[in-house]
Amino acid sequence: MPRPPDDSIAALADRCVQCGLCLPHCPTYALEHKETESPRGRIALARAIDQGRMATDDASAAEALDHCLGCGSCQSVCPAKVDYASILIGTRATQRARRGTDARQRLLEWTTSNPGRLRLLAIVARWLPAWGRFAPWIRRMRRPPPVGLHPPIGARRGRIWLATGCLGHFADAETHRDAIRVLTRLGWEVLAPRDARCCGTLHAHAGNVELADRLGSRLADAVPADVDAVVVCASGCFAHTRRALAPRPVHEIMAFLDQAEMREALRALGVDAPPVALHVPCTQRNAVGRADAAASTLAACGADTSALTAGCCGAAGAQLMLDPRRARAVGAPVIDSLTSATGSTLASQNFLCAVHLQQAWATARPGVRCLHPVSWIAQHL
Ligand code: SF4
Ligand code: SF4
Repeated sequence: MPRPPDDSIAALADRCVQCGLCLPHCPTYALEHKETESPRGRIALARAIDQGRMATDDASAAEALDHCLGCGSCQSVCPAKVDYASILIGTRATQRARRGTDARQRLLEWTTSNPGRLRLLAIVARWLPAWGRFAPWIRRMRRPPPVGLHPPIGARRGRIWLATGCLGHFADAETHRDAIRVLTRLGWEVLAPRDARCCGTLHAHAGNVELADRLGSRLADAVPADVDAVVVCASGCFAHTRRALAPRPVHEIMAFLDQAEMREALRALGVDAPPVALHVPCTQRNAVGRADAAASTLAACGADTSALTAGCCGAAGAQLMLDPRRARAVGAPVIDSLTSATGSTLASQNFLCAVHLQQAWATARPGVRCLHPVSWIAQHL
């Protein structure tokens, strides 16, 4: 994880002018209305730890920093351009060195960092009964990923390498299959990797910066030289994939499809998709920077997305798996707004958000399903 030259955490934190403009955008502040649960409060804690005025393993600071979702909403509205992500990850790395890591987080990092372990997990999932809160994961892991080279239909535009991720390689196989269907219909040749390749997001988010960097390098080595673009379906993996593969072009799929030429090609295919409720993940707004991409592309396919929700759903990477109670509490306003949405389908661009929303929304509205917007397009091609 590169840090700027004047890179002490205290120096980065000193750029905060404590204006508080970020507070109304912070989902954890909205939940508890406590200064320590706000970006400004966390920046102050990080500065105090860095300057040795607070113990690295101070329990209250640890809890406040652990609760941060890393959603990036504070950074995207900050007038002083405070690099909150570097402050958070740098502080978590320091804390991690001092107090260690939760065993479940370690297991998650260990599993996702190795293609062989993920393959084994997918094999085991085929034999496990789908029970409890793991049921959606187990069902998803049973579908084989769409690997290999998929030829274009019609005139060839070029070759795309599909970044299928680590957990997503197996647990989001359906989305990747649908992405390949749409991209090949638009004339792209799509190469889907045989092995799961992690970009390091889950690791960096928990302060495991070294392993995140190593995974980024391995990902860069895995991408062949002869591809014209790399496309990511999960908006949560976009930032780290782009950083790992720089300067190669990396695109989030809905932003890729929202280019004028692609929109025209979709119209020419005569896609006619019905209305769908749309959730815009934090990573789509703050990391990809194209909150409008899915709505715009779906509109080109005839789909009305006026039932649109942009708040944080609470999944926040590992929080969905490690602290589902808090994930539900943070996402409650989003879930509430969705229960009034018409229709029985919700589209979301980040697969961890989609899994979380599916679980939470289905409790309130049995029979609903949550999928990636590219799947909605593929199903109406
Ligand atoms: S992080 Fe930015 S928006 Fe938030 S209080 Fe500091 S200067 Fe203001
Ligand atoms: S990253 Fe998100 S949860 Fe964390 S302080 Fe910023 S707005 Fe709040």
